[in-house]
Amino acid sequence: MAHLKLLVVVPHPDDETFGSGGTLLSFLARDEACGVVTLTLGEAGKTLGLCGTRQELAELRRAELGACLHALGLLTHPGSVHEQHHYPDGEVTAHLPEVTDVVRGALGRHQPEIVLTFPPDGLNGHADHVATHQAVKTVWDERPAGTRPTLWYYALNREWLDPPSPLYLPPNRVHDVSAFLTQKLRAMGCHRSQGLTLANTLRRFPERVTHEPFHEVTSP
Ligand SMILES: [Zn+2]
Repeated sequence: MAHLKLLVVVPHPDDETFGSGGTLLSFLARDEACGVVTLTLGEAGKTLGLCGTRQELAELRRAELGACLHALGLLTHPGSVHEQHHYPDGEVTAHLPEVTDVVRGALGRHQPEIVLTFPPDGLNGHADHVATHQAVKTVWDERPAGTRPTLWYYALNREWLDPPSPLYLPPNRVHDVSAFLTQKLRAMGCHRSQGLTLANTLRRFPERVTHEPFHEVTSP
């Protein structure tokens, strides 16, 4: 039996919320335990002059993610979990075997019904997103069919992309999370140091704030 409804596996603080904050809120509102695995502290992100060193940014982003997960209700929900790892931001690919072990351990411990991560093209080509996909897909493929969690990828509507990558996977499920809009916006706003990413996300994909698209993988 599954321990978690949904386990989100992402490299950076903020990945969990921009694409799936509403989905997390909706499951938690139904008292379904969820988990987030964050592989890096996001120390390679923009600082916007809020701090100087990578170490300072790592601490700032750790605090921002904590505030965000609190706003989502994940940190106070019984049975829900957050795992923070410290792989170097921007260099997840160089640690792929260890990261794959982390994912294997997390799936074994948490027994999620659904696991959510980035698609093969990383959604935006970011190397850490691609490496995270590879780690999750490797572990998912190891499991015998019938024992695998349902696998979801973040997805974007084709018309939002110019052009889509050769590995593009279209959404095949869309969650209307408009009932959780205020909570999701509050959680997104917790990632203050990533204000430019947030602004670009809102400018390019405003529909994604209320309707979260995913690609559900069908077993071969
Ligand atoms: Zn990211």
